[in-house]
Amino acid sequence: MYTQATIPTQIRLCVECKVWVSTDLEWIKHNELHAHNPSIVYGPVIAEGILAAPRRCPYCTKQGMYLQIENHSKYVEHIEEHVRQQMADNSDSELHCPHYSCAHMGFDKRRLLSHLDKVHGISF
Ligand SMILES: [Zn+2]
Ligand SMILES: [Zn+2]
Ligand SMILES: [Zn+2]
Repeated sequence: MYTQATIPTQIRLCVECKVWVSTDLEWIKHNELHAHNPSIVYGPVIAEGILAAPRRCPYCTKQGMYLQIENHSKYVEHIEEHVRQQMADNSDSELHCPHYSCAHMGFDKRRLLSHLDKVHGISF
């Protein structure tokens, strides 16, 4: 028997969509929406001095988790951790951008970071 108290009520804001999501199930569905339709820019988007879209993680998005990070140094650390992980997993030292439209390109670490900056708005 469901009562008000047993329903999870953690309300989360998707800054990019300006939508409040009130249940875990809806948040998971919302994550899937972004994972299947990732925008090309992951860094913060500022419109008229207002944060229009938060810093998002391209690696987590690819895995179906839509992660929004407010703090810039945490964001950079988070992305760099993914790059490190990717380097550890890849024996052939070629790195790939997690965005589906760039998946065919191979980079070394320096080039990947500058690609993320120029193409995806992630400044390190
Ligand atoms: Zn959203
Ligand atoms: Zn991530
Ligand atoms: Zn890319």
